[in-house]
Amino acid sequence: MKRFDIMTLFPDLIERVLGESIIGRAQASGAIEVKVWNIRDYSKDKHRRVDDTPYGGGRGMLMMAPPIYDCYCAILEDRPLDDESRVRRIYMSPQGRVLNQRIAAEFCENYDRYIILCGHYEGVDRRIIDEIIDEEISLGDFVLTGGEIPACVFVDCVSRLADGVLADPECYAKESFSSGLLEYPQYTRPYEFHGVKVPDVLISGNHAKIDGWRDEMALEETKNKRPDILGKEADRA
Ligand code: SAM
Repeated sequence: MKRFDIMTLFPDLIERVLGESIIGRAQASGAIEVKVWNIRDYSKDKHRRVDDTPYGGGRGMLMMAPPIYDCYCAILEDRPLDDESRVRRIYMSPQGRVLNQRIAAEFCENYDRYIILCGHYEGVDRRIIDEIIDEEISLGDFVLTGGEIPACVFVDCVSRLADGVLADPECYAKESFSSGLLEYPQYTRPYEFHGVKVPDVLISGNHAKIDGWRDEMALEETKNKRPDILGKEADRA
């Protein structure tokens, strides 16, 4: 079973997102465990402050190291690390390695426990990254207001590869990026919509032909929409 501990200043945001749909059901069934920790609960300041101005000047506020560290210690107390080699401590950050399907698959395969730090405002004091974080992970080359949405994305894409989360593991074996291509176009009822019919091959009942058509279309879709990933073996999941 996979466990995700998420440190944040906005726990409701994460709980609401991850409490719904497939990831919500995966938690209810015990396939994964997600525990969200409010860093503010670990502030020793009487006003529960968790941020301060950066040394050297500059705009904005920075999250202070001590409440994050105390929150991290509470996580370890709640569930000690049994096997360090299966634990990954991640800071969601625009400066990190950019997440893709292959990296999500690596995280799913190599680790069972994920301790995730979400920054906010101008980010976090560098010393906390140096002390408790193994790796920074980014959603892409853009800057968001906080690490909460990236953390939800990370939990979602890693969890759905884990045992017991999707009803049918075939779902991810054949979808976009798993083969290095985008997925082929899909159709469902009605047979005809706004004058457009489902391609004949899909109702032929000939599975070899259907597979051949799907392979061809997957290549076509990739050429049209994402020619940049063609031939990039390294990015395959
Ligand atoms: N000052 C930081 C910098 O220039 O690198 C940006 C801080 S950002 C406004 C606040 C927080 O949002 C970050 O600490 C990080 O946790 C999160 N964040 C922003 N963009 C992100 C991205 N592309 N991927 C992952 N996390 C991101």
